[in-house]
Amino acid sequence: MLDYLCPGCGERCATILAARVGAPCPLCAAAAAWKRLPANTRRRIDAAIRRGTMTGLMAMRTSDPPIKLPDAAELLAFRHAAGVTSAAESR
Ligand SMILES: [Zn+2]
Repeated sequence: MLDYLCPGCGERCATILAARVGAPCPLCAAAAAWKRLPANTRRRIDAAIRRGTMTGLMAMRTSDPPIKLPDAAELLAFRHAAGVTSAAESR
């Protein structure tokens, strides 16, 4: 395993691929991908995540361009970390 610090957040990362050393961690990669999405796509995805995890993943898959697993799962974790969750699921 190769250890390095994420250039985005300074988190310790590990990879088995030398080419991946210095790459952002999954959460930073998701944050960067999120910033590249158009504002209306972000609003649509956030609204879907608030209705439920599966709805959120579906909204990502049907967005343009589509966001597929595993990227969608990373993006979902990033939005959850930002406080966008479904009230029904957090109860
Ligand atoms: Zn990071």
